[in-house]
Amino acid sequence: MLGERIHAPQIASGDLLREAVRDNTPVGIQARSYMDKGSLVPDELVLKLIDARLDQPDAKSGFILDGFPRSVPQAEALAGMLKDRGERISKVVAINVPEDELVKRISGRRTCRNCNEMYHVVFDPPAKPGICNKCGGELYQREDDDEATVRHRLQVYNNATKPLLDYYGKAGLLSQVDGVGPSEEVLHRILAKIGDGAGAKAAS
Ligand code: AMP
Repeated sequence: MLGERIHAPQIASGDLLREAVRDNTPVGIQARSYMDKGSLVPDELVLKLIDARLDQPDAKSGFILDGFPRSVPQAEALAGMLKDRGERISKVVAINVPEDELVKRISGRRTCRNCNEMYHVVFDPPAKPGICNKCGGELYQREDDDEATVRHRLQVYNNATKPLLDYYGKAGLLSQVDGVGPSEEVLHRILAKIGDGAGAKAAS
């Protein structure tokens, strides 16, 4: 929704990794076991995918990074990649949701194999069970979306990713947004923070 609104591609490290796993590329073969456990994939693999993605033509006039960076070393590597390209981060948004709510959202999540559109079995079910509204693709549950793996992913977040709040806070780039509520409302909160006129109006 945000990407459509600000006309920027969403570059999600998790999507890039899942594609690599699906296509059995050398990166995908190495990444798979880390992803199944809900652990972080080694930096060198993730950085390779992000670096190649940033070279695509649609990323030349801005992009949204989603799920990357996931640690301070990744943030430092990103700073280097952007510097080499004469680019910079304009804003970092942390979307805050309580852990129990996250577990509920993620364990009911279903994703389209074809276009990556997401649904929730209770909060946002597709019109036809198991079928994507947008493209008719098959919906599946990610293997790492079971409750035990989600709890492990939250631990990984607290250990490796949370320090980025301080890192980007000190750099003056961070905005925190309440992620509880309907997705349209959360979108407007984000737009208000990143300076979209319509978002600012909706938030006032
Ligand atoms: P996500 O789709 O963002 O929930 O990511 C799914 C899985 O992909 C994570 O649990 C990690 O195993 C891996 N992953 C995604 N992004 C990264 C990243 N930036 N660094 C390391 N591993 C990642």
